[in-house]
Parts: sequence; structure tokens; C-alpha cells
Amino acid sequence: MIIDILTELFNKRINLSKANAIYEEIMDSKYAGDVVLLLNLTQEEWSAFCQGADFDLISKRRHKGWPRKCAICNKTLDVKKQDWFVFFTGNKITLRHVVCFPLSSPTLDSSSSGQ
Ligand SMILES: [Zn+2]
Repeated sequence: MIIDILTELFNKRINLSKANAIYEEIMDSKYAGDVVLLLNLTQEEWSAFCQGADFDLISKRRHKGWPRKCAICNKTLDVKKQDWFVFFTGNKITLRHVVCFPLSSPTLDSSSSGQ
């Protein structure tokens, strides 16, 4: 059974703990390998979840759309075509290029990665 978990959350038909329970239930079943399909997630939504964003934050992103710019360098970031990490700001998630580190990061040397 496919459940559009983000739409259910956004419309408040389920809450976050129910969403997590549904996720856990699938992961504990023989259908774990199809979790992205069964929860009707896009690839970017699944990536964000794997990076620690919760379903609540991701459902808001589906509704509002993903940023088109990197949160660090402010240059174009295409969520479908480029590599990115989620970047947590307050109670929402934005995106950053994999080579763009937050200023507070201890590993600021980004000179070694060629595209
Ligand atoms: Zn950037």
C-alpha cells in the first residue's frame, strides 16, 4: 500500500510521530527496499530524510518548493541536477552545495574538490 506521507502530514491527517511509525513499520517489513516508492517520496525528499531532516520539514518543502540557491554561496543550486546537502536554518531546511561549508565548520578547505 502506498501512502503519500508528506501530503498526509501537510494536511494534518497524521502527525509526525504517526509518520515515523509508518516509516518504521515499512523498514521492519519485507518491503523496506521499496520505502521510497511506498511513501511516495521523490529522490530529493528521500535524500533530505537520510541527511536528518524530519518528515514535517520535508512536507513543508514539498509544499513551498525547494530553494533554487545555495544557502551559503547564494549561487544557483538545482536540486534535481546538482549534488547538495540539506542545511538547517531555524525550523526549516535549505540546501547547500556539497563544496560550500557553513562558516562555523572546522573543515573550511574546499580547494581540493574539482567538479
Ligand atoms: Zn554554494
